[in-house]
Amino acid sequence: MQAKTMAVFNKDGKFQPHTIERRDPGANDVVVKIEYCGICHSDIHTARSEWGPAAYPCVPGHEIVGKVIAIGKKVKRFKVGEPVGVGCFVDSCGKCSPCKKNEEQFCEVKTVFTYNSTELDGKTPTYGGYASHITVKDKYVLKIKKGLPLDKIAPLLCAGITTYSPLKRYKTSKGKKIGVVGLGGLGHMAVKIAKAMGAEVTVFSTSPSKESDAKRLGAKHFKVTKTPEAFTSMMGKLDLIIDTVSAPHSFTPYLSTLKLGGTMVLVGVSPDPNSLDAFGLIGGRKVLTGSLIGGIKETQEMLDFCARKKVFSDIELIKPEKIDEAYNRTVAGDVKYRFVVDLNTL
Ligand code: NAP
Ligand code: ZN
Ligand code: ZN
Repeated sequence: MQAKTMAVFNKDGKFQPHTIERRDPGANDVVVKIEYCGICHSDIHTARSEWGPAAYPCVPGHEIVGKVIAIGKKVKRFKVGEPVGVGCFVDSCGKCSPCKKNEEQFCEVKTVFTYNSTELDGKTPTYGGYASHITVKDKYVLKIKKGLPLDKIAPLLCAGITTYSPLKRYKTSKGKKIGVVGLGGLGHMAVKIAKAMGAEVTVFSTSPSKESDAKRLGAKHFKVTKTPEAFTSMMGKLDLIIDTVSAPHSFTPYLSTLKLGGTMVLVGVSPDPNSLDAFGLIGGRKVLTGSLIGGIKETQEMLDFCARKKVFSDIELIKPEKIDEAYNRTVAGDVKYRFVVDLNTL
């Protein structure tokens, strides 16, 4: 089966139309006609080989939503015509300890990422969601309730689950004080989800112009990090920080805003090293940790939570020929707050 895609052919290249082969549906496969796909900063890090050399041609995209157009004969959970989502990975061994605990993103054998990866056979390349359709094993396909705005749901498949998972793990609830560092795709979802969980949210941003948006999205406080006052005014106040920054920065000033024993979770993945002063952790016994997307079960739970709470992404919908421009604008911080590619026009 051939699929139309938008692909990039080297780290400095521009996106171009490109045809790839997708497998015909096997007994357990679902074929999804892709309608919308979000642009995650991870797509940019990968397409530009910022995290190490990518495999080209590269078709990024792991915030995929669309409709089922075909199913294999053993598929029971899905029907043709239903809205569905596909996130950051499309297979794993299913047998190891993390897989059995519904944390397939940490599969000990191999997590097959949606793009720039290979299937479990170790050789068939995977291509992502900037495409007309995709064939995925039913276990890795997410259900989306009918009648919801699919374009605004696409970013939940990565930005949503990546922020929901640590917010939930560290027990975000009414009365908790949560810091969100960086108001981009992940950051704006962290604000909305933390607020929907009942927390009081403080946004730390390098962009003074984002203050009114941060408050509209649900933040109570907004701190511009270019001045020390951003940190001194928040000293010892926060229970949890979600750091979504995509570029190198120092963790130390943020740690000072945590309560005794508070936790800072890194989800942003700068291509270059960040800095940390050990005193920042020792004083107040702070915890610095990380988090990687979420498993399929938790992703479904997040989609259901967001549907119930009416939490969707703020998006700018673009045509496939504008992907390069959207990448440049995202890197420049000019994104409100997720670009989503309309694949209906591919
Ligand atoms: P994004 O939309 O570009 O947002 C990143 C935000 O970080 C920017 O809007 C900006 O917010 C802030 N920022 C950028 N450069 C900065 C700098 N030099 N210093 C301080 N702040 C800066 O990106 P995204 O899609 O949300 O992704 C964010 C990061 O998370 C990326 O590195 C991505 O690869 C990673 N990621 C990780 C996971 C995971 O599972 N852990 C999943 C998805 C993405 P302000 O203007 O408010 O400062
Ligand atoms: Zn992502
Ligand atoms: Zn496994």
